[in-house]
Amino acid sequence: MTRRVCIIGHPVAHSRSPLLHGYWLKTFGIDGLYTREDITPDDFPGFLRELERAGYSGANITVPHKEAALSLIDEVDDTARAIGAVNTVCIRDGVIRGTNTDVYGFLANLDAGAPGWDGGRKVAVVLGAGGASRAVVFGLIGRGFNKIILSNRTLSRAQVLCADFTGKGLVAAAWSRLSEHLGAASLLVNATSLGMTGKPTLEIDLATLPPEAVVTDLVYAPLETELLREARQRGNRTVDGLGMLLHQAVPGFEQWFGRKPDVTPELRALLVADLTGGR
Ligand code: NAP
Repeated sequence: MTRRVCIIGHPVAHSRSPLLHGYWLKTFGIDGLYTREDITPDDFPGFLRELERAGYSGANITVPHKEAALSLIDEVDDTARAIGAVNTVCIRDGVIRGTNTDVYGFLANLDAGAPGWDGGRKVAVVLGAGGASRAVVFGLIGRGFNKIILSNRTLSRAQVLCADFTGKGLVAAAWSRLSEHLGAASLLVNATSLGMTGKPTLEIDLATLPPEAVVTDLVYAPLETELLREARQRGNRTVDGLGMLLHQAVPGFEQWFGRKPDVTPELRALLVADLTGGR
């Protein structure tokens, strides 16, 4: 029987998940289908309850439902609870279980793109204090980072995130004083939307960033952001955000379809072609 999975969002037409899961289904020759479901916030609770009856064995959940899903599903794992958002659900024996795979995606992308990135000093400067930043922070704590400087335009939001991870070495830093902290960093992460096509650029002076620091950007359109270009030109290792998008899909596919897929150069090229419209 065809195993069916969907991505639930509103809007959801822009999602690349059907393209990437479709690639893996084809690669493995699995009888499966991955589709989009555009569901409004009002309809979301009912849709989730009826997911299995509608023929789905799992789903990805995206904006604006990721936080709401937390209180609507039967079992939420520690990762999703710590981040406050569910992006992947799997139904077994009528029970809906939820997790958040952004942490896995963030870490696996760095492991693949900058091997050894988490050796050495383990001091991170993280820009942003939204949902993505929360996943980044949780992942870095898990990898033993004992100092994480969190800088956000709205300082109070960074302070709230620090408070949620009390005792884990998080420090909130004013956006205007960001460059003062770069000298200590072994990792710099952009988890804001700055630098994305159509958004303002991220203004940051990298002069004091140590040459061995790894720089990663969660923004993947453009593929090489100004931040990554500047960091690469001054000799820092860089890792782009597309890899995170690809890697975060791996645990979901494995749960739903029983095979662990690879993030291959061919898959990456497929997504790049889609993002750039074949240019
Ligand atoms: P979010 O919750 O809306 O947070 C947005 C963040 O960007 C906040 O920290 C916000 O600061 C900051 N920001 C927005 N405009 C700004 C400006 N003009 N100046 C300074 N800071 C600004 O979004 P999110 O879900 O955390 O996502 C953040 C980024 O990560 C997005 O670009 C998203 O596409 C990307 N992302 C990528 C992946 C991936 O797989 N590669 C996964 C998840 C997210 P304030 O708090 O001051 O508003």
